[in-house]
Amino acid sequence: MSFLMPCPNCGPRGVYEFRYGGEMNPRPEGAPSTEEWASYLYLKENRAGVQEEWWFHRSGCRRWFKARRDTVSNRVERTYWAGAPRTGEPEEQAVQGQSVEP
Ligand SMILES: [Zn+2]
Repeated sequence: MSFLMPCPNCGPRGVYEFRYGGEMNPRPEGAPSTEEWASYLYLKENRAGVQEEWWFHRSGCRRWFKARRDTVSNRVERTYWAGAPRTGEPEEQAVQGQSVEP
């Protein structure tokens, strides 16, 4: 299934221009154990629903950004730069359930 991914720099583009970088997972703090590192690096939630993810615009500006996407419908609620506030970010791009048939 194809859908539009709104790059915060380039605007909405076909998802095939991007590389999926995985779901957001908070990095362990302090002195994590081997098990905590393994969990952080390899165990994914694989949620059916809305999650925060990393995306890379490999055929465009070649920048990493974050997206909030529904994994069931592929609806992208918003995208934003890493380090930006989760809401109210002026440079965020929002799309309304845009879907493109192949
Ligand atoms: Zn871009």
